[in-house]
Amino acid sequence: GVEPGPSHKGEPRLTVVSGPSGVGKSSVLNELRVQAPEIYFSVSATTRPPRPGEIDGVHYHFIDVAEFERMVAAGEMLEHARYAGNLYGTPRKPVEDALAAGRAAVLEIELQGARQVRRAMPGAQLVMLLPPSWEVLVDRLTGRGTEDPEVVRRRLETAREELAAESEFDATVVNADVQSATRELIRLVVGRAG
Ligand code: 5GP
Repeated sequence: GVEPGPSHKGEPRLTVVSGPSGVGKSSVLNELRVQAPEIYFSVSATTRPPRPGEIDGVHYHFIDVAEFERMVAAGEMLEHARYAGNLYGTPRKPVEDALAAGRAAVLEIELQGARQVRRAMPGAQLVMLLPPSWEVLVDRLTGRGTEDPEVVRRRLETAREELAAESEFDATVVNADVQSATRELIRLVVGRAG
């Protein structure tokens, strides 16, 4: 009894998934990768240094500012933004190739980038991942209490701003638990039951 998602119109769709830090985006998207291998997941370019365990070309393309700026100037980025002092962008060609090959594509990007995709590709679908409540998000961002209160304060402020943009999105998915959030995303992205 699951309603078909918007992608059932036949065209492969580009879906942007955004959501505040602490909402559990990586857990849900990792589960989506496992459950819907037909989806193409964009690999972003960034100027931030890799975190432990991150692999170049897998989690991100780790590039320097000069290369990032060259790609932007050459029109090779579908969208790009500055976030927490670093540059992030979506290389255009792999996404266009995936869509041309008939695959649904997903970008996991922040709000400024989502707005650029909305303008550049009006057919794109914008999905915001939401926490079950503001209190749950505060708990997750406050974490183990080991973090600098100023850092936590800034994260909460950014999260509040991102949540305020909810009305600009086509759909919202509440991450009450990873399995149900993944099921909803599969329906939205590829239009089948998860
Ligand atoms: P992180 O550094 O924690 O991996 O990512 C920080 C933020 O950058 C997250 O909100 C993530 O969604 C966003 N982000 C990752 N890649 C891109 C991208 O290609 N473009 C934009 N606009 N944001 C991105």
